[in-house]
Amino acid sequence: MRITVLAGGVGGARFALGLRDAAPDAAITVVANVGDDMWLAGVKVCPDLDSLMYALAGVVDGDRGWGRAGESERVAGELTAYGVGWPWFTLGDLDLGTHLARTALLREGRTLTEATAQLAARWPLGVTLLPVTDDEVPTHVVTDEGVIHFEEWWVRTRAQLPAQRFVQHGAERARISHAARAAIADADVVLIAPSNPVVSIGTILGLPGVRDALETAAAPVVGVAPIIGGRALRGMAATCLAVIGVEADAAAVAAHYGARSQGGILDGWLLAEEDEAGLAGLRSLGIRAEARPLLLTPGEPAAQVAREALALAAAIAG
Ligand code: GDP
Ligand code: CA
Repeated sequence: MRITVLAGGVGGARFALGLRDAAPDAAITVVANVGDDMWLAGVKVCPDLDSLMYALAGVVDGDRGWGRAGESERVAGELTAYGVGWPWFTLGDLDLGTHLARTALLREGRTLTEATAQLAARWPLGVTLLPVTDDEVPTHVVTDEGVIHFEEWWVRTRAQLPAQRFVQHGAERARISHAARAAIADADVVLIAPSNPVVSIGTILGLPGVRDALETAAAPVVGVAPIIGGRALRGMAATCLAVIGVEADAAAVAAHYGARSQGGILDGWLLAEEDEAGLAGLRSLGIRAEARPLLLTPGEPAAQVAREALALAAAIAG
């Protein structure tokens, strides 16, 4: 079975780990958001690809949920001393090794897809990791104090600086990559991870070619709610949803994605049991919605969430 997952960083990684446990024989492809990518101190940083890679490789810092375990920051200290550090963004030494390797490959003319494959080949990830595009499409945040990169808004201001809107800078010139398009077209199941619906999944969907790929995919498309009981677990998804005028509610997020039969992206949707009041409304929109436990606690609970998503996809496929 070929399973393709659209994912952001930390939430996407927790779901991908569960999926790998739930479907050990499947060929899993994770298509990652690149809206958070940026150049810092001359190196290309891809926060979501790295969160996915480190988590699936088993080398993530478990306490923080991102970055490498056993990390040090000696190089960042030197950069700061030279006045080229980014005080609001942690560049660990081991992490910098990843960014340097990626940048070297890009400078040699490799695409981000090719560079990601070479970095991933070092680890036993058990999945294929793909950026959704090889083009640079950084998410910018329009604030009262000017336009800043999404990571600066997220990390430096903790999403506290009032945002007017998010902009995918360069999207009009960008395209879904050939590999990501094929991963969606050839899949038996397409899953939307419980990632940030605005700045992770929203940026993937905003990239020219993605909605078209989902619309024409033969596979059922099933999403998992990132909001449980009106709250985003770990993260500031509620703040992002407010910026685009969508309620921080599991059913509201599914309605925002829309039914595939109505020009949206979803055939099926899992929301948490405490949100089951939203089921009837979604079913009337043409989305096959079910209530299940959705806490991605590592190990069996996360695998069970993935199993439920696959079961719903199988039921939809008939
Ligand atoms: P980021 O790119 O690192 O911000 O991570 P993602 O966009 O992939 O995912 C972040 C989102 O994952 C959070 O905003 C939450 O909404 C969601 N999330 C985190 N933990 C859980 C969990 O245990 N269950 C569910 N259903 N969603 C979760
Ligand atoms: Ca992210």
